[in-house]
This record gives sequence, structure tokens and C-alpha cells, in this order.
Amino acid sequence: MRYISTRGQAPALSFEEVVLTGMANDGGLYVPETVPQLSRETLAEMAGLSYAEIAFRVMKPFVNGEIDDETFRGIVHDAYATFSHDAVVPLNQLDANHFLLELFHGPTLAFKDVALQLLGRLLDHFLAKRGERAVIMGATSGDTGSAAIEGCRHCDNLDIFILHPHNRVSEVQRRQMTSVLADNVFNIAIEGNFDDAQAMVKASFADQGFLNGTRLVAVNSINWARIMAQIVYYVASAVALGAPHRQVSFCVPSANFGNVFAGYMAYRMGLPVKQFIIATNANDILHRTLTANDFSKQELKATLAPSMDIVVSSNFERLLFEAYERDGDAVRGLLERFQSEPTALAEAPLARLRKLFASHSVDDTTILEVIREAHHRTKEVLDPHTATGYRAAERARADAETPMITLATAHPAKFAEAVVKAGFPGVPLPPHMDDLLEREERYTVLPAELAEVQKFVVENRR
Ligand SMILES: *Cc1c(COP(=O)(O)O)cnc(C)c1O
Repeated sequence: MRYISTRGQAPALSFEEVVLTGMANDGGLYVPETVPQLSRETLAEMAGLSYAEIAFRVMKPFVNGEIDDETFRGIVHDAYATFSHDAVVPLNQLDANHFLLELFHGPTLAFKDVALQLLGRLLDHFLAKRGERAVIMGATSGDTGSAAIEGCRHCDNLDIFILHPHNRVSEVQRRQMTSVLADNVFNIAIEGNFDDAQAMVKASFADQGFLNGTRLVAVNSINWARIMAQIVYYVASAVALGAPHRQVSFCVPSANFGNVFAGYMAYRMGLPVKQFIIATNANDILHRTLTANDFSKQELKATLAPSMDIVVSSNFERLLFEAYERDGDAVRGLLERFQSEPTALAEAPLARLRKLFASHSVDDTTILEVIREAHHRTKEVLDPHTATGYRAAERARADAETPMITLATAHPAKFAEAVVKAGFPGVPLPPHMDDLLEREERYTVLPAELAEVQKFVVENRR
């Protein structure tokens, strides 16, 4: 199995190379050259297996023998042992035919843990094998930073530097990052906003000379291994509800499209999926594209579901590559136009997408209404991201018979602001985190100057 770029001009890579590489050098994203198949028998045999064992079986073909089975099993087992629920990602039945897939039982209470717990360990494995070290740099306005730190805190061969805007991250989110006191974790509070932090990380990737040859690694959602890890819970939840003998549908609160693209991969591997519903907040590029063929950027809106606040959905390119029947030139042309002007998909690819995908956009007022309504009906307190999914699942589902699985992407305690706005007294943190606000913190405040940040990285990496 090799990995190829969605823009058709970068060299094909092995699994190891694709894990250590972010974007392809032609500006595209890596996807597997062929899609491994899960036969009906293979799916049927998964019934009753542990999550880690299903994960091993689903991901094994993508790893392509580049890690021996026993080692890979161990990596997968360790990654999911960090989750606080025995089922790792339990299914919670809301009514006769609507289920929540709770993806928030990992160390930082959001679904990004599922991928980043694995990615940190994979990076560490490959670096150890090569006798190399690497530096991870990332900018965060909250969510991804803490999940990346938790994923890397035990990795001997990695040092991680996460930049956040000083005094502009919620206290819970800041403390989830700064209370990790590991020797290889460095939190930098930038005297500036998120865009300043992001710009310094981008500039560092564009010019890596300051690291004197040490590899700089990105752990953002374009890394193939993150998609791969997320395929697993689609398979595991569908099997729990009767696949391969029964079809299911999924509703996915979406932003960069990494999560729902993983679902699409599961479908392409043979999982019987009737429909994917893409839920967005007011940042609705995916919804506009699917319903009105309006593939254009709009100004960023700050919403009550901040982890879905995006202008561009980077992983949508991977789906476009499939919709355009893997024509890298067509994808490159479309995305180059998209950068500078409003554009639209060609008719045939759009028609292909509409057969499988529906979408729905949910504004802030509706998010609050949904949190109250869902609680009234089911006694569950939803986080604001999951609330977009709950509403979209009701409004956009193709039929009432196929079981609908809505992905619960965050624990409500992590986004208490919206929950309080909806009229609830707040949500307690789960027991293993209830001392978060008393834990010791460690971070360094630096001016928004590239030279200062790079100097700090060079002086502190091990
Ligand atoms: C990142 C995130 C999303 C969006 O996921 P994508 O893979 O970017 O589409 C949704 N909800 C929460 C809580 C997130 O952290």
C-alpha cells in the first residue's frame, strides 16, 4: 500500500513516510492508493471484540506490514487504555432509532483524543526506529493543542511546543494544556491573537533551518494517521448495531472534514452506510457547497461551537478527489480557483456527493434551543458541537427506519459556557479531572515575534 497526493504531482509514500509528513509537496493531501476491503465475514467476526482489537483489524491494512503485528497491537492497546470508559467510545441510545456515539471519554474530553493518542505513539515508534528526534509545533485556540499535548506527553523522541493566545483561551482549555508538567511539553502564551500564533507556526514550517536539521512535524488534521484512527469508531459502532446485516446512518458535527471523511473511508471499505449528514454551525461552507453549489470562503464567525469555527475545510479536498474520480489535475484546478474567487463543483462530482451526503447548518440561537430540547426529551446535556449534530440528524435524515448515529464530539463540561447560556447551572468535570482548576500550571509568555519563539524552541528542545 502506497499513499498518493490528491493533486497528483507529489511522490507516492510509504505509511511510515506519510505519518512523518504533513501536506504533500504539491499542496495536496495524502490518501491511500487503494482502499482495503472489509468483507461481510470480517465485519461479522468483529461483533463482541474489544475496541482496541477492532482498531487493530481495521487499521492493519493501512500500516502495510511496516510495523509488526505484535508491536502495532501494543501501540493501539496503549492508545485506547487512556480512555476512561471501558467501551472507549460507548453508544448511548437516545430513542428508538437515534444513538449518540460518545467520542469524548479520552484525556481532554473531545474526539480529537481518538486520533492523537494513536498519532503520538506512531510518531514515537518510527522516530525510535530511525534513531531520530522531532519537534512538534502547533497553534491552538483551545481544543487541538491539549489533545496533541496529551498524545505526546509520554513520547521520548518528541518535544512539543504549543502556542496559544495569552489570556484568550478559556480557563479549562488553558489548564488542560498548561497543567501537563512533562519534560517534553512546552506551552507558549503569545502576546497576541490566534492568527499571530498560527502565522508564527506557519513561518516556522516554511523555513525549518532554525532547527538545524531536526524534523518539524505537524499533527493537524491533514495527517493521514488521524483519519485512519477515526475510521475505527464508524466500523465499531455500526457493527454494534448489527452491521454487516443492517445499514446505519451517521451525523457528524463538522469543520475541517477529517471526522466525516474517515466515515466515508469506512463506507468505501465496505461498511453498509445509508447516509452521512454533515452538521455545521454558522460557518457553513460545507452546507452551502452541498445544497447550493456555493464553494466559496466567507468571513469567520465566532460561534458557541468554537471547535467548528472555520473558513475552509481542509480535508474536504480528500472527498473532492474521490468525487472527481481521482483526477488530481481537476482537483488542483478547482482548489487553486477556490483560493482566489467563489467557485462551484462540476455537476457530475456534485451529484455523486449528493447521493450519499446531506447537510444542515445550525446557528447559535438554535444551538441553545437544541440543548434545552434534547435535555427535555432525553435527559442528556449535549455540548454545543454535538447539539448541531442532534438537530441536523432530525432535519436531514433520509428515513426513520435506518438507525442514526450522531457523533458526540465533546463532553459538555468542556464547553460549559454554552450550556450555562442555555439555562443550565453548569456541568461538573468528570471525576478524574475534578481537580483541574487546582493543578500546578507551567507556561512561558512570549511576545508575538518569530525570532523570540524560535529561539525558545531551539533552547528548550531536548
Ligand atoms: C475538531 C472538532 C470538530 C470538527 O471536526 P473536523 O474533523 O474538523 O470536521 C467538531 N467538534 C469538536 C468538539 C471538535 O473538537
